[in-house]
Amino acid sequence: MHTIETVHVLGAPVARLTLAEAAQVVAGFVREGRPRQVITLNPEYLYQAQFRPELMEVVRRADLVTADGVGIVWAARRAGNPVPERVTGIDLLLRLAEEAGAQGWRVFLLGAAPGVAEAAGRELAARYPGLTVAGTHHGYFKAEEEPAVVAKVRQSRADLLFVALGAPRQELWAARHLEALGVPVVMGVGGSFDVLAGKVRRAPVWLRRLHLEWLGRLLMDPKRWRRQLVLPKFVLLVLRRYR
Ligand code: UDP
Repeated sequence: MHTIETVHVLGAPVARLTLAEAAQVVAGFVREGRPRQVITLNPEYLYQAQFRPELMEVVRRADLVTADGVGIVWAARRAGNPVPERVTGIDLLLRLAEEAGAQGWRVFLLGAAPGVAEAAGRELAARYPGLTVAGTHHGYFKAEEEPAVVAKVRQSRADLLFVALGAPRQELWAARHLEALGVPVVMGVGGSFDVLAGKVRRAPVWLRRLHLEWLGRLLMDPKRWRRQLVLPKFVLLVLRRYR
């Protein structure tokens, strides 16, 4: 496998890859088969990682880290190390699901409220014939249920595991159980199952083209403002670090 060229943004290695290239790298991971973690890194995570070493450690040990969102793309440019474009969780998920359809890969969906992963799985199977849903499980399991969840994933013989527990919990969870899960590719996808299941709409394409998906998410889910408060702090940190 060729090495992935990375740039450093606030201490995190971010791949200098387009969405299409990132999907190809992940396809290579599936073919190789040993467990690997993929992280689509967003500003909220990267900001928290400045103060929580365990979060930075998980990013440093991940096998592929992409720039999830315009904030990371901007920060990379500011650092003098531009990346070609943003590679978000849902976009990478959709590309990989398309590839799963073409290659007959098995996909496990873990996370979101009861019923949502099933609905998201049905949607993916309908959109990408050839994709097999190897299994699903909701994301509201207790600590004592964790071994059973891990065993269920392992026994599913999935090629890809999408984990929708919300960042940064999904990344910590994936890192902790990576070897036990035994799945070639484990990737956190945030609220993607809710979007696929039709519970939450994505921002309209015109807003996304203007790099304002975050604004769309805020308008559609005003409770997000509290989380998005970290964004101005992230901007200040980047401005100070990369004058
Ligand atoms: N979630 C979960 N278990 C939890 C908390 C959250 O499965 O204990 C799910 C939640 O239902 C949602 C997703 O995790 O589907 C988080 O979505 P959000 O949009 O908050 O995440 P982001 O995309 O911002 O990481």
